[in-house]
Parts: sequence; structure tokens; C-alpha cells
Amino acid sequence: MSAKVTKIGVLTSGGDSPGMNAAIRAVVRTALYRNLEVYGIMRGYNGMIEDDIYQMGSRSVANIIQRGGTILKTARSKDFYGEEGRKKAYENLQKRGIDGLVVIGGDGSFTGAYKLSKEFGIPCTGIPGTIDKDLYGTDFTIGFDTAVNTAVQAIDRIRDTADSHDRLFIVEVMGRHAGYIALHSGIATGAENILMPEVTTTLDEMLTSLSEQEKRKKLVNLVVVAEGYQPDPDKPELRGATEVARIVEEKLKGLETRLTILGHIQRGGPPTCIDRFIASRMGYHSVECLIEGRHNVMVGILHNNMHYTPLEIAIREKQKIGEDWLNIVKILAS
Ligand code: ATP
Repeated sequence: MSAKVTKIGVLTSGGDSPGMNAAIRAVVRTALYRNLEVYGIMRGYNGMIEDDIYQMGSRSVANIIQRGGTILKTARSKDFYGEEGRKKAYENLQKRGIDGLVVIGGDGSFTGAYKLSKEFGIPCTGIPGTIDKDLYGTDFTIGFDTAVNTAVQAIDRIRDTADSHDRLFIVEVMGRHAGYIALHSGIATGAENILMPEVTTTLDEMLTSLSEQEKRKKLVNLVVVAEGYQPDPDKPELRGATEVARIVEEKLKGLETRLTILGHIQRGGPPTCIDRFIASRMGYHSVECLIEGRHNVMVGILHNNMHYTPLEIAIREKQKIGEDWLNIVKILAS
């Protein structure tokens, strides 16, 4: 039987994602409702190491549900990779009597939480907060819906101008290791081709299909590329839409290309209803898990039910994009 949790810490770590504030709000208010003390840890694991921790009340999270980013700030903490850094972090938690932790972030952040729990016996729960949506054990990650809707709106605008010219538009969306934003935004905007890090489409295939489209004089040619897509696996440093555009211009002489890199606009902005809703739901259950003794799990949603994946599995496994999706893309863009 695990010890009762009485004081919990909450932090956001890794890349920020819209909806993290809604999750923090849910964690804080659920904890207070359940008579737990709750502490905000600033800048991810950096704040834990540097003792940048403050007690939160209900008002600390007023008027934040609609705001992008994270009021707790986030960071990638180098020192937390080392045992010494984690020991210091633990001592700061211990000093305040913090005996439970909610970590909002991606699989890297969960790895840190898992290590802390193994080394020092601090129970943790993880909330999937990443725009990439590639975490195993959940249909949703906080921020994905907002990011992909931002990408869709931007691509729609590009499509309008593409419609007026005979050019190939190449748009890069976020996703260093995962192509979900590219896949969803590409399908939703009717892209002819979608290039993702995890699917080994050869660029030759795309060039063939583009030259066929050229022959057919398709009105709009739109290609959506995830930033982590590598046209040549032997040259991993050459990635993303810039490289794709360079190759297309080299191989299909005369085809004018226009390149747009959407970049950080995809991380910002007010979270969509879906992101606020899932963040609230996950935030509530992350605290309930700590109270009920369901420790060291990632709190996900699968088939509209809460689903709890042990952190070690959430860290190890990845949600994968099936090759059949590309077939759908081809059929719908023909
Ligand atoms: P995103 O999906 O936005 O990249 P993430 O949580 O995967 O989010 P990472 O940069 O991989 O982002 O990890 C966030 C932080 O978690 C790291 O900066 C580090 O402090 C901690 N962390 C990651 N991996 C480990 C590890 N192996 N050991 C200890 N701490 C880790």
C-alpha cells in the first residue's frame, strides 16, 4: 500500500503546447478540492533543481484556461539528465514535503519523472502535453488540435493564392520526429503529397506524381512536409521543406516552387475547445490517480475512456502512422 499523497507539485516541461494552462488549472483546483497542497514548479525540471517553487491557490490559475503557452514556463533541463541534478531536485521537493508530482510534457519529460520516481520513490503522473501527438496510449495529446488547426488555417490561405498561379506550393509544418501535424493538416487541406519522418516515401515517387500532375495541369499543387522529413536517409542533416524544394527545382526544371515554413505560429494562440477539454479531463484524473495510488502512469484518453499507461511503456513505445494513410492521401488528391 503506497503512502498517502498530501502535497503535490506540478510542472510543464519540454516544448510548450496550447492547453497546458488548462491542465495546470485542472490539477490545481482538483488538488485543492481534495484538500491537498499544490506547488507550481517553474521552468520544468530547472525550477525543481533551482528551488523555483511556489504554493498555488485557486486564484493562481484564474483566467488562464484560454491562454496559450504555460504560466509555469517550460524548459529543457540539461542538469536533470544527471543523477546529481535529480538528487538536488528531490531534496527541494523533500524540503517542502512534496510527496507527489504531476508532469505535463512529452516522452522526455516522462523519462525524467520515471527516473525520479525510481530513484527517490516520488509517485508521479504524466499528462501528455505535446503538439506532436506521437505518444503511445492516448488518442489525444494536449496542443495537437490547436497546432493542427493553426496549420490548416495557414495552408488554406496559401491555397487561395496557389489557386491563382501555376506553381507548386511546399509548406513545412512542425514535427521533428512525428508526422501527425503534416498528415492531419495535409489531408484537411487536400494536399497532393504529404512527407513525414516515419514514412519512407521516396522523393522520386513524389516527383513522378508531380510531373503527371503537371501534364494534367492540376490547378493547385500543394505538398505538406513535416520539418523532420529526410529526403535522403544517408544525409540526415538535410531535412524538411527547404531540402524538398531544392530537389524539386533541380529535378523538375521549369516548375516554379514557393516555400512556406509555418514555424512557431503553430505552438501559440488560444487552445481549441478540444485541447481545453482534454487538458481539463486529464488534469483532474492525474490528481485522482495520485490519491488513489495509481502511480507512475501517463493519463491518456483512448476511445473516449481514460487510459493509464505505465510511464516505462509510455516512454518506450511510440504511436505510429500506418502506411495505409498515404494511400488515402493519393486517392483523395487524384
Ligand atoms: P517535446 O515532445 O515537446 O519534445 P519532451 O518532454 O519529449 O517534449 P524533452 O526535451 O525530450 O521534451 O525532455 C524534456 C526534459 O525532460 C529534458 O530537458 C530533461 O530535463 C528531462 N529528460 C528528458 N529525458 C531525460 C532522461 N533520459 N533522463 C532524465 N531527464 C530527462
